[in-house]
Amino acid sequence: MLCFQLVVASAAVVSGLNVGAARSGPITMQTKTITPMPATVKPGVVTGQALWDLLQHAKENEYAIPAVNVVSSCSISSCLEAAAKYGGPMIIQFSRGGGQFIAGKTANNDNDAACIAGSVAGALHVRQVAELYGVPVILHTDHCQRSWLPWFDGLMEANEKYFAANGEPLFSSHMLDLSEEPLEENVGTCKEYLERMSKVDLLLEMELGVTGGEEDGVDNSDVDSSRLYTQPEEVWEVYQQLSTVPNGRFTVAAAFGNVHGVYAPGNVELKPEILHNTQKFIAEKLGGGDAKPTLFVFHGGSGSSREDIRYAIKAGTIKMNIDTDTQWAFWDGIRAYEAKYHDYLQGQIGTPEGELKPNKKYYDPRMSLRSGEEFMAKRLCEAAEDLNCVNVLSGW
Ligand SMILES: [Zn+2]
Repeated sequence: MLCFQLVVASAAVVSGLNVGAARSGPITMQTKTITPMPATVKPGVVTGQALWDLLQHAKENEYAIPAVNVVSSCSISSCLEAAAKYGGPMIIQFSRGGGQFIAGKTANNDNDAACIAGSVAGALHVRQVAELYGVPVILHTDHCQRSWLPWFDGLMEANEKYFAANGEPLFSSHMLDLSEEPLEENVGTCKEYLERMSKVDLLLEMELGVTGGEEDGVDNSDVDSSRLYTQPEEVWEVYQQLSTVPNGRFTVAAAFGNVHGVYAPGNVELKPEILHNTQKFIAEKLGGGDAKPTLFVFHGGSGSSREDIRYAIKAGTIKMNIDTDTQWAFWDGIRAYEAKYHDYLQGQIGTPEGELKPNKKYYDPRMSLRSGEEFMAKRLCEAAEDLNCVNVLSGW
């Protein structure tokens, strides 16, 4: 909010963004005019048509929105602080484990009760504070495999209840990840859920292929490498099936060599050209003149080069998950705080200035946690640059 003056009225000219880079070409400095933010998109949580308009704005203007799994009010604050600073939208999401953590690790979790309650509580918290930061926020949940569907069903009930009272869902969107299953079963279940979700204006993110690596207790690090690359025909199948759902809105997390977590370079090759080829394939099938009919989501982007990220964005990637790096940044902030004030943090009383001096102002949890927040917000601002998501709130 403090940096809201960065937002230029009407057409904002953002300089220094490498919006026209070819994958193999040099990074060139260019300027780009951002089209005005659609009138439906307002500060705070966006859902339904406003969400769709925002994602189309991202696609048209070739930026992707950073998405972060949050686990506390601290990480939520970091996301909002960063979005206000970089002048763009933000996706705040909850993993099943993150939701449970928000409820408290010892809360009764029978039938995913704590996973559901924590995710809902986090979403309500975001709804209460997001407007204060003057940015659009998308409320989302991350990977959900079949055995986790009780969590998803609980979230759907919360959305339906919220919709009945407020005319919009509590969340903006949810992810279903049935990518381990045969395509037919994956798409079939996604379609069933999308039919329910579309009635309350929720968008579905579905996954095709497998994101390598390990995240939130799901380990895909030994998966056959051919499954790390999605085929255009598979995305076309999804597109056809899900497009038959009235008011059905969806995005596709297609695997193109992306991995969760940070790995030594050279283990898996990122192939964003898969996304370009897929758009071309579907555009030809549809024949309607839209060169990029699909909205893609980029998982496991930590450690990717800016060049690869921007090449993926040019193919219609509108969301990128930035978890591993933000987790590290939060820890790094706490680590740096401890290193700086180490001698003041060894007891309640007794500092380098005197044996009887109190240390309360140093060990107040807000001090170390705030350092974590600052580092994480800074990392997110850097991510927003990679994603071309800086100063995109044109016309606000
Ligand atoms: Zn993921």
